[in-house]
Amino acid sequence: MPHRSFVYSPLPGRVVFGVGSFGKLADEFDELKVSRALVVCTPEQSPLADMVAIRLGAQCVGIFPKAVMHVPIEIARQARSYARQTGADCVVAIGGGSTIGLGKAIALESSIPILAIPTTYAGSEMTPIYGITESGEKKTGRDRRVLPRTVIYDPLLTRSLPAAMSATSGINAIAHCVEALYSDNANPITSMMAEDGIRSLAQGLPRVVENGDSLDARVDCLYGAWLSGSVLAATSVAMHHKLCHTLGGMLDLPHAETHTVVLPHATAYNAPAAPLAMARIARALDADDAAQGLYDLAKRLGAPTSLEELGVRSADLDRVADEALISPYPNPRSLQRDAIRQLLEDAWQGRRPASTATSTVNAPPGAG
Ligand code: NAD
Repeated sequence: MPHRSFVYSPLPGRVVFGVGSFGKLADEFDELKVSRALVVCTPEQSPLADMVAIRLGAQCVGIFPKAVMHVPIEIARQARSYARQTGADCVVAIGGGSTIGLGKAIALESSIPILAIPTTYAGSEMTPIYGITESGEKKTGRDRRVLPRTVIYDPLLTRSLPAAMSATSGINAIAHCVEALYSDNANPITSMMAEDGIRSLAQGLPRVVENGDSLDARVDCLYGAWLSGSVLAATSVAMHHKLCHTLGGMLDLPHAETHTVVLPHATAYNAPAAPLAMARIARALDADDAAQGLYDLAKRLGAPTSLEELGVRSADLDRVADEALISPYPNPRSLQRDAIRQLLEDAWQGRRPASTATSTVNAPPGAG
């Protein structure tokens, strides 16, 4: 197969992965050449922030335990002001995407480095993408200052993530990989990572849901989450993410659950226009069909499969379809209003997508 042209621009950053790697925090702190940490977390994860403070001793200058979903500007302002007051020279963000998002809001203003310790599979720690919500509107952007300089992935810290959250957070991560495979700026490296990310999560998640203490399964999922965050950072997202942002923004739906419900349907929509990506997704899932494989995985994990379950009313679907077509993201299949409306209907009902497998193409390694 001829090599197509591509641009690959890897991002800097140090990843320390492994069971017990949280124990290397002090060494990583020295490596970063910082000495005054502000630790951020959600109120529920305060005990973890306390553990960080104990490990850092005098090098921890404060804890800000008020991270919440979608980074409201008021909380970001409080955290920034606290960072200035304490003279912090770095942020340690320990938690999920909301906590890391708050760390990013601080770094965006102050340019101090972030050391991230993720405890979910959302993937924000690998990206230079930030989001801040002001007057009910979430504004997102990309800025190298918010890309964490060091990421410590310790599967031990994910054992407390409940089964239901593990399942949806993991499928949210799979969604990053799925869209990376048909992204308009996919390249052989990101595609390789995306396929392996799906495989690792699809193999780990059922074992995590069965036994949340299984460290092997937690390792597989966190490894997949790392790959998913990496490809999210390096490629641009498409219609699936646009639909989820629209649904989340308009109807205030939970982030990971929305991704979980929409993904099989967005995949089915794009299948005719991205056969190679579909073959790779199916191969990674060990399924005959990409969209059906994703749906079956969600079912097997006991995750939500319909928008109705998330509280969406059928009457909302028309305006969601209209809104999703405004400033669309690049997408392999062109966006047709009727077909998008049908996709939303299918997602609302929670139907298993029809088979979209067109061939048994064996995708060559590294092809996008
Ligand atoms: P979250 O960070 O909102 O966490 C949800 C809840 O789970 C919180 O109460 C948290 O304290 C708790 N929690 C986290 N880890 C836990 C653990 N190990 N055990 C027990 N409880 C735990 O959820 P999320 O899905 O990680 O993040 C979602 C947010 O991240 C969204 O706002 C999304 O937009 C953002 N996000 C951003 C990017 C990016 O690149 N900027 C990427 C992905 C997601």
